[in-house]
Parts: sequence; C-alpha cells; structure tokens
Amino acid sequence: MSLVRAVGVRKAFGAVEVLRGVDLEVAAGEVVCLLGPSGAGKSTFLRCVNHLETIDAGRIWVDGTPVGFAERGGRLHELREREVARQRRDIGMVFQRFNLFPHRTALENVAEGPVRVLRRPRGEAFDEARELLARVGLADKVDAWPHQLSGGQQQRVAIARALAMRPKLMLFDEPTSALDPELVGEVLDVMVDLARDGMTMVVVTHEVGFARQVADQVVFLVDGAVVEAGPPAQVLDNPQRQRTQQFLAKVL
Ligand code: ADP
Ligand code: MG
Repeated sequence: MSLVRAVGVRKAFGAVEVLRGVDLEVAAGEVVCLLGPSGAGKSTFLRCVNHLETIDAGRIWVDGTPVGFAERGGRLHELREREVARQRRDIGMVFQRFNLFPHRTALENVAEGPVRVLRRPRGEAFDEARELLARVGLADKVDAWPHQLSGGQQQRVAIARALAMRPKLMLFDEPTSALDPELVGEVLDVMVDLARDGMTMVVVTHEVGFARQVADQVVFLVDGAVVEAGPPAQVLDNPQRQRTQQFLAKVL
C-alpha cells in the first residue's frame, strides 16, 4: 500500500495556478526526491501533504487517510483544526531554516514535542531525545544552545526533533540549501542513514548526488506539473524531456 497517494492535486493562489493536477505515489519505506526549478510548486506540494495548505481539487491520502478529512458513517467530513493537528503529528517536516527554539538547549528542543504534545513522561522523552541526538552525531551537544551550533548541527537537531514525534513520514524542503557547502555533507549523511533505516521520505532537493544515492523515485516538477518521474538512473542519467535535460544541465 502507498503511504502517500496524491491524485490530481490542484492549488491556486488567487489567479496563479501553482499545482496543476499533481499525481504522486510513495510506498512505505520509499524515498522520493522532488526536483525542479524555483517556483515549480515543490514547497507548496509538501505543504499540501502536511495540510499547511488546503487543496482546491484532487485528494491526498497519507497512510490511507485523506488529508484534511475523516470518515464518519461512510462519508467524508472536513476536519476541525484540532483534528488536523492530530493528523499532522504523524508527519515530520524539516525546512530550509531550522527554526529551533532559541532559548532551549538542543536536548530540550528535541524533547519538547513528545512531552507537551504527546504527553510522554519527561524522563522517558529526555532519554529518547538523547538517543536521537546521538543518532544524528550530536551526543556531545545535548546541552548546547542553538546559537552555539553550526548550521549543519542545528539542522541535525531539527531532524532529531522531527523524529522524536515518531512520524510515519518525513518531508524535507531543501534541508541543505541554507548551509555553507562544507556543512551539507553531514546533514545528507544523516538523511542517508534515515533512508537506509526504512523511513518513508519525500525530499525536495537540488542535491542530485543524494537523489542518485538514495532515491527510489525522482520526480521532476515544472510549473505545477510532473514532467518526468522514475528511478534515478532513468530521470537523472537518461532524461527524456527537454525541460528535465535543461534543468539537470544547470544543477549538475
Ligand atoms: P518551489 O518550492 O518549487 O520554488 P513554491 O511552491 O514555493 O515553489 O511556489 C510556487 C509558486 O507559488 C510561486 O510562484 C510562488 O510565488 C507562489 N506562492 C507560494 N506560496 C504562496 C502564497 N502563500 N501566496 C501566493 N503565492 C504563493
Ligand atoms: Mg521551495
């Protein structure tokens, strides 16, 4: 079964059609890399999956549940805000900007969600936060404040923070675009580990090397529509469409 299934997703902002019928399927445990030029609608699509935007047409299912709806008595009902928040909990999101809480340590940043939102016992949540920080290579930074960490370290804390909510699905929106080039590798390494561990991931990125290494599917989006999709060897090394070829010539 697909963990994510998007069918005919449309989204406009005013008169501007940003998504023009996007179809996408992500099987459980799969990594999908979403590539495409700036303004193609990549971020908007991720935000729709996470219900940060409502869609105008089509439907998105996450783990069999239609995003933004609940089934009651055989009919779909639009979710209320609290129910949306609940649906969103199963989805971890990592942005270009890490947005850590500045007045909390790395450890507190990671443990905050489990304690406050999931109501996990503090001791347990902090132990698990320590383990997660170790997993992203930051065992020695648990007590550091965000401003004491490099961009790459902050982004790894942000990934640990998302994982602490035990998501079924992780969405990454250009997680390395704001980093100095020498810090990109340490964040990608964590993402490669996560992929190998079986996490289902949709990753918007310009890192073609990463896509080639871990993606099961590469999806190329232009002007709100999927232009080309398939395994990396096909889309990256033997693109059929001119738009894909032009884009790859620029980023490779
Ligand atoms: P990408 O992530 O591929 O660069 P985006 O999804 O951010 O593309 O944006 C696609 C288009 O939608 C752009 O033209 C952008 O200006 C527009 N857009 C995105 N968010 C909004 C918004 N909240 N209001 C109006 N226009 C928006
Ligand atoms: Mg974007």
